[in-house]
Amino acid sequence: MVKVQVPEHIKSIVPYPPGKPIEELEREYGVKGSIKLASNENAWGSSPKAIQAISDALTNLHRYPDGSNYYLVQAIAEKEGFSPDEVVVGNGSDDIIEFLVKAYVESGDEVLTSHPSFLMYQKVVQVRGGVNIVFPLKGMHHDLDAILEAVTDRTRLIFLDNPNNPTATAINPGELYTFLSKVPETVIVVLDEAYRDFMDFEMQVDVYSLIHNSKGRCGVVALRTFSKAYGLAGIRVGYGLMTAEVAGYLHRVRQPFNVNQLAQVAAVAALNDTEFYQKTLDGTKAGMEWLQKKVDKLGCTCYPSQTNFFLIDVKGDATTLYEAMLHTGVIIRSMKAYGYTNVIRVTVGTTEENYRFYHSLKNCLLELGYVS
Ligand SMILES: *Cc1c(COP(=O)(O)O)cnc(C)c1O
Repeated sequence: MVKVQVPEHIKSIVPYPPGKPIEELEREYGVKGSIKLASNENAWGSSPKAIQAISDALTNLHRYPDGSNYYLVQAIAEKEGFSPDEVVVGNGSDDIIEFLVKAYVESGDEVLTSHPSFLMYQKVVQVRGGVNIVFPLKGMHHDLDAILEAVTDRTRLIFLDNPNNPTATAINPGELYTFLSKVPETVIVVLDEAYRDFMDFEMQVDVYSLIHNSKGRCGVVALRTFSKAYGLAGIRVGYGLMTAEVAGYLHRVRQPFNVNQLAQVAAVAALNDTEFYQKTLDGTKAGMEWLQKKVDKLGCTCYPSQTNFFLIDVKGDATTLYEAMLHTGVIIRSMKAYGYTNVIRVTVGTTEENYRFYHSLKNCLLELGYVS
């Protein structure tokens, strides 16, 4: 036993549940060629241009990456209409979440989040010795009234994933603007827009004006990722949009080479590959419509979605169904651990994957007697 004291706020952290590699699951369940619709990844793979860029960069791996992320920051700034000093790039957007907490949260400071929502927020706050104040969703939406009421002079950050993961709901833009106008200047509201690409246009908020016109109210930071619509989850790259002042603090706490070389070139290439991006959006939309129509007909209830995944009330225990579907080589998520006993979460796949999911679901539902 090591005798060094571990702080109580570290001891009490529940480790991230270690998912098994797909190969291990297949061995355990005796299946082959399974499909994974569990992590909201891009069903169409990665942009071929990004893959080519990675391949071209492989001869340069003995060099450190560009610590300023120069070309990637330029490309993002141009796409978003921001100035390069208002863009911070991370090893996934998880990295930016960590920078925000490192820069703004001291021991005892309060951070407000929802449950269920993205688990990373609470985790990094706990590592830092901050205090998580967590609000249950209200009808699967962020409870903005309760969050606003809980703001104190110890509140530093409010994390809102918009759309929310796992419920796929987005905040009504008008309600969000009203909420932000009431949050004081001493707080930063972080809008995690990992699924922005998939949202209906009228649900997307104007983060440029929210970030630049914050006189008399809270600051705003928007987070984006290459892990979903851009199909680069495995290489880890995301970014934040914020004022140059906030960016300056995040640069102080980040590692000098936080984004690897391959991630940088892949992300630049992916931004330029409008064809792959559009194929992803169109395929997701078509797949979502097809799946929801078919699944509703089975006697389940699909929830509306502003993302590339959706929830289904399967009318019986979700974890039992998850296990049954695993045996057919279809991997989805049970939402039981989040308090939604009869709900599963599924990511939209390719046409073939959606078809396979549908048939597995249908057979398992009948077998378990959830529907007749
Ligand atoms: C997938 C996801 C992200 C992306 O995280 P990365 O670190 O960029 O892969 C961020 N926020 C939410 C809510 C997500 O679901």
